[in-house]
Amino acid sequence: MYDEYDFVIDSRKVTPGCIFVAIRGEKTDGHFYVQDALCKGAKYAVVEKEVDAPASQLIKVENTVDFLINTAHDKVQKYKPFVIGITGSNGKTTTKELISRSIGKENCFANPGNFNTEIGLPLSIINHYHGERYLVLEMAMNKFGDIAKLCEVAQPDVSVLLNVGSAHRGVAGNDQAILEGKLQIIEKMRPNGTAVVINDERILRKISTPFLATFGYRKGDYQLLDYCYHDLSTTAVYKTASETVEFNLKSIWNTGQLTNIAAVLAVLDLIKVNYNKDLIENFSPVQGRFKVFKHRDIIVIDDCYNASLESFKVAIETLRKLGKRSFAVVGSIKEQGVYSAQTHQELGKMLEALDGVIVYNSDHEIDFMSCSKEILRTDDAEQVVLFLRKILQPQDVVLFKASRAVQIERVLEKYLEGSK
Ligand code: ADP
Repeated sequence: MYDEYDFVIDSRKVTPGCIFVAIRGEKTDGHFYVQDALCKGAKYAVVEKEVDAPASQLIKVENTVDFLINTAHDKVQKYKPFVIGITGSNGKTTTKELISRSIGKENCFANPGNFNTEIGLPLSIINHYHGERYLVLEMAMNKFGDIAKLCEVAQPDVSVLLNVGSAHRGVAGNDQAILEGKLQIIEKMRPNGTAVVINDERILRKISTPFLATFGYRKGDYQLLDYCYHDLSTTAVYKTASETVEFNLKSIWNTGQLTNIAAVLAVLDLIKVNYNKDLIENFSPVQGRFKVFKHRDIIVIDDCYNASLESFKVAIETLRKLGKRSFAVVGSIKEQGVYSAQTHQELGKMLEALDGVIVYNSDHEIDFMSCSKEILRTDDAEQVVLFLRKILQPQDVVLFKASRAVQIERVLEKYLEGSK
């Protein structure tokens, strides 16, 4: 019904003829910007509250987020694509990219990584899905119930559950709520749909679906059997349903990321798409997601995009295998709520495995973290850079990692500029 319109939720991004949808957010309320959006040329504004604007341009609904979800749902119903839904605490974006690129652009639409919420996912479908045969959707969960909502937009034929960790546990409730919330991707899939699930007992005992493929490190139907690192590349061996295959990946992949490839192989088998060895081997991790490179003989790991305990764990494991001495510049893990102290104490224990830890305390949650390997604590990025330049020696490895809100990439950027 609204096929010919672009939908916009930010009045600054209004283009003539679009539909502006007023969303009530935590920081502000889109209803304040309805007049602005209409002045800038929006044809209609979708609202759930009274606003002072010409009635002929208003579409009044009960709930504007549900309106987005229903509109996207209608579009999916119109084209009836084969839907692959992906959730998990870590690895969604990379897994989605590998699956969608393997299927190929002409046949496949995938939502961009940050369009994975109850607002972003429907928006990306409304604005950018044009009837491709496959929909590959990453579905993020901030709170219990989010995944069920996203499945209302597009009910998965294949549901991928990568892992269940502690990310966002302050918002989601507790670890049990996170697990139950993520399991919705399987509960809400199409009847006779297939689940592709990490071989984790805690998860598997909750699943009773008849069509199930498991994957994991040395366990499951699709297995990462072994891996090793060479200079800046990784060799990984997998067992699939029909063969053992070796990939010579052109970059460093951590164990979490390597395990996700087993999930990719399972999904491709299910949909009868052959994996493309070249494509997988040459895939380069997305910016900020454990991207490993050399800078003046120092091995640098850019993992600035986000952080959780689980992604720290795999990062630290890999870090130790790469260089002569291992260092990390770390900041807070956010969205931990009442668990913040516990999370940061656990982080401190994990970091004991390194040779030196530099704490970037631009906010105070990281104050909960203590570690005997700490060698500097500062909120001054410049000071971190000067310190790194003093201590790092050729073949050392240094990881930069914190939650998104910390913007630890600013420190990394300064480090890379500063030592040209
Ligand atoms: P997401 O979209 O879920 O945030 P990404 O593919 O962007 O996932 O990866 C984010 C981070 O998660 C990276 O630091 C990556 O190394 C880490 N990661 C990926 N897969 C796993 C896994 N299975 N276990 C732990 N950490 C992982």
